Parts: sequence; C-alpha cells; structure tokens
Amino acid sequence: MNTYETLLRFCNINDDFHEFTRRPFPYELNGKNVAVATDGRLLCVAKFGCTDAVQLAGTKIPNIAKVIPPEDCAGHLSLKSVYDALDKVPMKHDTECPECGGDGKVRFEYYCEADSTTHYHNFDCPYCAGIGFVDESKAPLIYDTYYSVRIDNQPFFPKYLKRLADILSSLDLTDAPYCVNTAMHTLKIETPEYIMLLSGCVENDDKDKNIEL
Ligand SMILES: [Zn+2]
Repeated sequence: MNTYETLLRFCNINDDFHEFTRRPFPYELNGKNVAVATDGRLLCVAKFGCTDAVQLAGTKIPNIAKVIPPEDCAGHLSLKSVYDALDKVPMKHDTECPECGGDGKVRFEYYCEADSTTHYHNFDCPYCAGIGFVDESKAPLIYDTYYSVRIDNQPFFPKYLKRLADILSSLDLTDAPYCVNTAMHTLKIETPEYIMLLSGCVENDDKDKNIEL
C-alpha cells in the first residue's frame, strides 16, 4: 500500500456530513506539512505528506494537534494479541433492516409541478414488510456491541479495532510501537512514516463486557 492508499483506509467516503472525513487532506502539524485522514474514530497522519491529498476549501477542520496524545510510543503492540482478543468477542447477526434502519417505515416523496410542492407519504418498508428487522439468514455478522476490547485499561470498540488491525496487517506492522492515553481514551501507534490513532469508548456501564488484550 502506498501512502495515499493507506490514508484512504482511514476515511469514510460515504460520510454525507463531514467533508474532511471523505478524503485525505494536507495539514500543517507543528510547523510540518503532513497529510491527514480520519473517519472521526480512526485517524492517520502521514508524516512526510502525500501529493494526492486534496486541500479542503471552506471546510472547518478540527485541531489535529490537540487529539494526538503527547506520550512516546514506548510499548509494543502485538498484532497477534489484538486478533486473538478480537476472536474472543462473540459475533451476532445484525438483523436491523438496512433500508429503514429498524423504523419499519419509509418515506416516499412526490414533487408536484403544478403547485411546486413536494408531497410526502410514509409507507411500510418494502424490504422488511414494515417489521424493522430482517431474517437472520439475510443479516450480516457483526461483533456483539456489548463487548469491548481493553488495552492498558482503555476499552475500544471491536469493530474499529479490527479496522486498525487490518490496516496494520496490510503494512506488515506485526509489532507496532504504541501507547494508550486513558484520559484522552486514545491508542496511538507511531512508525517512522505514520502516526495512527484509535479513539476508544468511555468507561463501560455494567451491561458491558470486556475482553482483555
Ligand atoms: Zn425495513
């Protein structure tokens, strides 16, 4: 993977609300020209920049320097131990209807030329027949959302930790330099080329279950 491909994996190209999450962008971080990509949960800084990163005109970009934990990455995160922990998280079928998001209703609209007005009407969702749920045979397997994986006393959502682990795997980072900042709820991984961040959850309530790394 080249730098741009790596950065793209931290983006959310389908984000309709935040321009800065859809593609990598150039950024000045502590006086250096870097490139940044983020989906709001994962973030990557390419320390030597990226020529394909696109300047985002008129978009408010969060202060990146503020979200990077100051500690050095003195520990070593074993990729195998991350996958082993993820393997212990139970999976479940996500039966929520992907079309109506569980509402059971969908909204049809009709634009009337004569009165220049859009008319709306709610109907039972055609995909789930108004139930809001789909049969398990049609539902994708996801991590049980009651579970988190704890690294150094900081819980992380399995879904996002898996995304980060798959990126590390693609980069052959089987033993990545890391640190965890529990006050910032953040895992930081730093290599000669990249700083990668994963934002975790706040401390779980009593329903939640933790898998220790
Ligand atoms: Zn539906």
